[in-house]
Amino acid sequence: MARIDLHCHSTASDGTLTPAQLVRAGAAAGLTVMAITDHDTTGGWAQAAAARPEGLRLVRGAELSCRWYGAAQYPIALHMLAYLFDPDEPRLAADLAELRSDREQRGEKIVEKLRADGVPITWGEVRDYAAGGSVGRPHIAQALIRAGLVRTTNEAFASRWLGARYFVPKADLDVFEAVRAVRAAGGVAVFAHPRATVRGRVVPDQLIEELADAGLFGLEAGHEDHSPAEQADVRALADRLGLVVTGSSDFHGTHKTVELGAYTTDPEAYEKIVSAATGVTVLG
Ligand code: AMP
Ligand code: FE
Ligand code: FE
Ligand code: ZN
Repeated sequence: MARIDLHCHSTASDGTLTPAQLVRAGAAAGLTVMAITDHDTTGGWAQAAAARPEGLRLVRGAELSCRWYGAAQYPIALHMLAYLFDPDEPRLAADLAELRSDREQRGEKIVEKLRADGVPITWGEVRDYAAGGSVGRPHIAQALIRAGLVRTTNEAFASRWLGARYFVPKADLDVFEAVRAVRAAGGVAVFAHPRATVRGRVVPDQLIEELADAGLFGLEAGHEDHSPAEQADVRALADRLGLVVTGSSDFHGTHKTVELGAYTTDPEAYEKIVSAATGVTVLG
C-alpha cells in the first residue's frame, strides 16, 4: 500500500535527523514515497539520494519562506513547498541563496537581542547547531535549552522568547515571485499549511485564487497544524480552484513531536505532481 509523505525536514535545515538518517527512517516507518523539503535549501538532496533505501521513492524538494505583501498593514508570512525543480536554475538558486543569507543575518540579530538582555548564548554556538544548514529559530531554541532557560523547543517559541519578545522577521520571498521561480525551474508549488491559524494570521481565499492563476499547483490540507475544520476548508477550496490536495507530516525529528507518515498524500495527487514536474525526476 502506498504511504506518501511529502514534507520532511533534515539537518540541512531545522530537522534533527541527517538526510541519510531521514530516508532510512522513512523506509523504517513504512513510507513508499518521501519528500525532503528543507527550509530554503537543497543542501540535503545529495546525501538523501545516496542513502535512499531500496523501495523508497525520493522526491527532492524544498520549503520556501515567502511573504504576501498585499496584506493591509503587515505582510503575512507563508511557506511554499517546491517539488522536483532544477536546483541549478539560476533565478531560483539565487532566491534560495538570498533566503539562507537573510536567515543568518536575522538569526544573528535575535542572538544579539537576547545577549543584550544578558542571555548567555552566542551566535557561534547557534551556527554550530545549524551545522552548515539553513539557520532557523529551532537552532536558537537549542541554545536556550543548553543555557537552561527553557526545557523544550516548543517552550522556546512562547511569546516571552522567540515567539514575540525576541522575534525578528525574516526578509522572505514575495509569494508570487516564488511560484514563478519554482515553475521556471520546472518544479511544482504546493502551499504548505495554508489555514494553520495556530501559527498566526492566514491569507484570504482571494490570494489563493490569485496564486492558482499564477501557477500554484496544490494545497496542503493534512497537517498537524490544521484543525479538522481547517482541513475540510482547504479541501473545499482546492476543489473549487482545481488544485491538488496533499497531506504530510512536516517531520522535524525531535524538534517536533509529529511522526513520519502522520499525514499522507493520496497516490492520485502524488502522480499529478510528478507528471507536472520537469526539473528533476523522482529517485527510485
Ligand atoms: P524560522 O523558520 O526560523 O522562523 O523558525 C520557524 C520554524 O520553527 C518552523 O519551520 C518550525 O519548524 C519551527 N517551529 C515553529 N513553531 C514551533 C514550535 N512551537 N515548536 C517547535 N518548533 C516550532
Ligand atoms: Fe521548520
Ligand atoms: Fe512550513
Ligand atoms: Zn516544514
